[in-house]
Amino acid sequence: MARVEDTAANAEICARFCGSCPTMKENSLGELPPNMLFCARGQSEKPEKIAQNGCNCPGCEVFTKYGLEGSYFCSP
Ligand code: SF4
Ligand code: SF4
Repeated sequence: MARVEDTAANAEICARFCGSCPTMKENSLGELPPNMLFCARGQSEKPEKIAQNGCNCPGCEVFTKYGLEGSYFCSP
């Protein structure tokens, strides 16, 4: 997989997909580093287990642009 760059443009795209994701919302991931853009910045620092309630990554333009595979980049 290509390395995803932590850019403002990618963050803007991510805000639409992670930003509307039920997993993000139900686990309040936006309140903890790295907030979003997990495919570039790494997993959420949330210490508790993250309940996986759906992932919007496969539909995201960053996902397609960088040829990513998988999903749930926010959680281990
Ligand atoms: S990485 Fe996937 S599951 Fe996690 S917040 Fe983003 S869209 Fe949701
Ligand atoms: S692939 Fe997932 S984590 Fe990466 S920018 Fe898209 S929605 Fe955000």
